Amino acid sequence: MLRDEFTISQLAIPAVSFLISFLAYTSQYFFLHFESAPLLKDEAWKINIFASCIWICYFRACFVNPGRLPSGSKSSGLDQAEKDSATGRHRWCRRCEACKPPRAHHCKTCKRCIPKMDHHCPWTSNCVSHFTFPHFIRFLFYAVVGMGYLETLLWERGSIVWKSRDLPSYLGPSVGQLIHLFLLFVVNSMTVFALFILLVRSLWSLVFNTTTIESWEIERHETLVRRARVLGGYLEGPGGKKIPIRKQEFPYDIGIWSNIKNGMGGSANIISWFWPLAATPDRMTGWEFEINDFEDPGVSWPPPDPDRIPLPAVSLAAEDGSELLKTYSSAREEVEAFRRRQAEDLARTRPFSEIQRRKRFHERYKQEDRRDSDDERGPRPIYGDQSDGGEESWRNAEGERLQDFGVDEEAEFYDEDDVPLGVLLKQRNQGQ
Ligand SMILES: [Zn+2]
Ligand SMILES: [Zn+2]
Repeated sequence: MLRDEFTISQLAIPAVSFLISFLAYTSQYFFLHFESAPLLKDEAWKINIFASCIWICYFRACFVNPGRLPSGSKSSGLDQAEKDSATGRHRWCRRCEACKPPRAHHCKTCKRCIPKMDHHCPWTSNCVSHFTFPHFIRFLFYAVVGMGYLETLLWERGSIVWKSRDLPSYLGPSVGQLIHLFLLFVVNSMTVFALFILLVRSLWSLVFNTTTIESWEIERHETLVRRARVLGGYLEGPGGKKIPIRKQEFPYDIGIWSNIKNGMGGSANIISWFWPLAATPDRMTGWEFEINDFEDPGVSWPPPDPDRIPLPAVSLAAEDGSELLKTYSSAREEVEAFRRRQAEDLARTRPFSEIQRRKRFHERYKQEDRRDSDDERGPRPIYGDQSDGGEESWRNAEGERLQDFGVDEEAEFYDEDDVPLGVLLKQRNQGQ
């Protein structure tokens, strides 16, 4: 469509470009006209080299394709389903109608599953993924180094102005220059501080091979383990099903060197990690990831979460998977069973509008308590009425919920272990 609705996010790339230009180029204009300490040649070189690196890395972080499932995704999805069935785990994306590879998540903005999704970055209007992470972290690196350098130059000029504050004003810089210097200093300091924190976080992710989303999942897992410890090793899933919860190791941390190498696109050449024009990771990678051997082969990531298990009506359909192996006494019975499964299958592909979110754990827990002491009032619903207030909106210590990383929360929470029957049937037929 030509006339897409205007959103504030469309201003992100122009705004960042304006910021880079303001800091990199108007600062040089200021230094050239600042008589007490005019710009030196090598200072100008350094500023412009850093600025070029920032531009290249920023535009690559914005415009390199964060990846999509291969075009034959349906068939490769089946391969994935087969592989997953070996570990007893199916990850199915209902929005993409395809199997979800390990570490992939469905991005709300990109509207598809993104391989090794880290987060959808509002400032690049792009996903930070297996393919764009190296560009993104190089951008942060050059931005922090470049702006750190600019900060020292601004500091130098600022201290000269401060020292000459008692001299007659006509000897010093003009009011316009003073305002310009002040603005450059404030904007540069604030930006470099924010980006420095983001760089440290991203380096942490790189060293431990953990995406931002996975850090959230690790924290969530720790919370569930704590809850389960109090409740005897189990948590209650929808329909009263007891889900065993035990501490699980994060599987993708395979050692610092390999983590960094794989995160930077697989090259062991350290110089290429810093090279702004380095190649984007091979498009054949990003669907499978090496794992450490801390866990049994049957254990997969993310760990089980009772709130990610489909609601009772849906889980009935999932249990019906066992019917695949059933024998029927008559053809009519088999046809009926098939129709029933088809209808249930259809119900599962319905839009998410009817999803009822489970209440938050602590509310449910308190409710259980009250029910024990106050029996005659009868059971109360365990589902919340607020469409946005359920367990999915669980927040980590920093107050972030999954949605804050750009993930489609509903697709994420209700598609676990949920490969539609049609696909399983097809898979079985192919196997025969
Ligand atoms: Zn998807
Ligand atoms: Zn995205």
